[in-house]
Amino acid sequence: MTPQAASPVSLGTRYATELSELVVPWKAAEASDPRLLMLNEPLAAELGLDADHLRGEEGVRLLTGTAVPEGATPVAQAYAGHQFGGYSPRLGDGRALLLGELPDGRDLHLKGSGRTPFARGGDGLAAVGPMLREYLISEAMHALGVPTTRSLAVVATGNTVYRETPLPGAVLARVAASHLRVGTFQFARSTGDDEVLRRLADHAIARHHPHAADAENPYLELYASVVRDQARLVARWMLLGFIHGVMNTDNTTISGETIDYGPCAFMDAFDPATVFSSIDTGGRYAYANQPPVLQWNLARFAETLVPLVAPDQDEAVRLLTEVLGTFPELYQRAWTAGMRDKLGLPADTPDAQANELIEDLSRLLNATRPDYTGFFRALGAAADGDTAPVREHVGVLAEDWLTRWRALGPARGSMDRVNPLYIPRNHLVEEALDAATAGDMGPFTELLVVVTDPYTERPGRERYSRPAPPDAAPHVTYCGT
Ligand code: AMP
Ligand code: MG
Repeated sequence: MTPQAASPVSLGTRYATELSELVVPWKAAEASDPRLLMLNEPLAAELGLDADHLRGEEGVRLLTGTAVPEGATPVAQAYAGHQFGGYSPRLGDGRALLLGELPDGRDLHLKGSGRTPFARGGDGLAAVGPMLREYLISEAMHALGVPTTRSLAVVATGNTVYRETPLPGAVLARVAASHLRVGTFQFARSTGDDEVLRRLADHAIARHHPHAADAENPYLELYASVVRDQARLVARWMLLGFIHGVMNTDNTTISGETIDYGPCAFMDAFDPATVFSSIDTGGRYAYANQPPVLQWNLARFAETLVPLVAPDQDEAVRLLTEVLGTFPELYQRAWTAGMRDKLGLPADTPDAQANELIEDLSRLLNATRPDYTGFFRALGAAADGDTAPVREHVGVLAEDWLTRWRALGPARGSMDRVNPLYIPRNHLVEEALDAATAGDMGPFTELLVVVTDPYTERPGRERYSRPAPPDAAPHVTYCGT
């Protein structure tokens, strides 16, 4: 027997074995000419993975799923989901695989790794542009302090993907607390087997909400904990002007992380009705609709937990409804706290005064529609007495508001740590992805540097903080690209 070199990556099979009813063991498609485009070295180090190994032939084969460590069991995960309000009983990983759990308990997952039994009509593939887009935006979100899945690598496969035009194919290697979604619970519930549902809930509690195990009613506490985490998450999105774009229940996690960066984008000029996704013609997932849509998704989650929460169905519904009813206040509290930070308000500012100022600011933003990110960053300078940049955004309408705000003694230092200077602006993202698709990774790498250090001003990088030119075409995003 020839001795085999031990793989430096070890992948657990916890989900595949504990929830075998919810997975299909599967293999990734071959990549004809794999080439590593991006490797997230800081994340690799955090995970205890050897970057040099990942860059090598065996590492790249791992990152495309074509060679996995001994004992690993790659699986396609089953889930259901409400998409734009309509229920699909069988979605699942159509073009993705869970490779397994990393030593710290997080999932290593691939996107674009070929057709699976859940592919329906899809080709199972992904193009370089959209996978780099997820890499960039998820890493920017992480740098902005938002709970999110992370991106470990993008490998160009050498295969061609056919969309409107032939495009270079790619696989994204993603790291997430888990890939449990509201849609996973919907799928488990639809099996009619409460034992599977209970095992899924126990798995979710153990991985993400361990305190719930000690609660009087662990499954009700699981629900309350997800409601809390998701309320905080969507508040973070709103404070940053982030629009997820496809808040289907299969894209709402149980861990409270942001997942699936398809048609997402950051709002440019403030407008509550902003929608970027080409298919969201009704504006279901528009900026201002995100909190109520999330609450709707959490109601779908509650429905799945009914058999676990109480033996009497009416009692279970009553208990879950009561918890769901706390969502608006939890959201409002998280958003208001974040807005107080964005305005640099001293901690002792009375709530009534802060709330009035925030409400007046909402009216001001609605009336003037400034560049959302630029406006808040400019407020930092105004806290220091230089109101010219803010006036550039909102004109004279802000005079009275600025006077009242400044009288409260806002502190610039803390504001500049919560109001980013650099976000992945749509026109810059498009420019970087077009170049990458044509083979030039330079603009992508440059943009990644600024958006992953979003609060630090960099002389010479002014174009990265400026809004799109006024004659730029409206930004349109696409799902499942
Ligand atoms: P998403 O919009 O990326 O959240 O995907 C929604 C569903 O469509 C998931 O079940 C995906 O696995 C599936 N899907 C998206 N694109 C493809 C594709 N090209 N091939 C197969 N399945 C896909
Ligand atoms: Mg999805």
